[in-house]
Formats: sequence, structure tokens, C-alpha cells
Amino acid sequence: MGLAEFTGLTPSGYEERTIERVSRHHRWDVDREAWSDCTNCGSELRLRDRHLLVTLGPGTDLETDRVHLCDERCLTEWVGIE
Ligand SMILES: [Zn+2]
Repeated sequence: MGLAEFTGLTPSGYEERTIERVSRHHRWDVDREAWSDCTNCGSELRLRDRHLLVTLGPGTDLETDRVHLCDERCLTEWVGIE
């Protein structure tokens, strides 16, 4: 399943929200270690390493509109499809 196919899906627990975009992401611009938690499994992600960035819409709060996930496996679990 390609990343684009997740567009428009609603993750469980996010009833009002839909996935606007999924992209492969890693940050090279950080001068200190930046960490986030995977929204699905809770693993710590070092944002310098490759991971998935999901933008949720519609919304105005940039802080909650972008979530990080480990990989496609966590993304698939998160949206509840097998
Ligand atoms: Zn994960």
C-alpha cells in the first residue's frame, strides 16, 4: 500500500480528522537531538532518522496536526487496516 493511499483515511480515535498527507521525513537541520513518540506504538523516534510524518486535517493547531510514526507498519495499525 503506497503512502498516498492513506490520504483521506481517518485514524481510530480521530473521528473528526482525516489524513491529508503522509511523507517520509527526516530532519537534518536540528542542531540538537530532537525526539518524538510514535503515535501508534509509543516508541521514541529520533527525528534525525527516517520516519513518517502525517498531516491531519482539517485543523488549525499546528502542534496536533502533525504526528510522527515509525514506518508503514505503524501507519497501517494506526488507521486500523490490515
Ligand atoms: Zn511505531
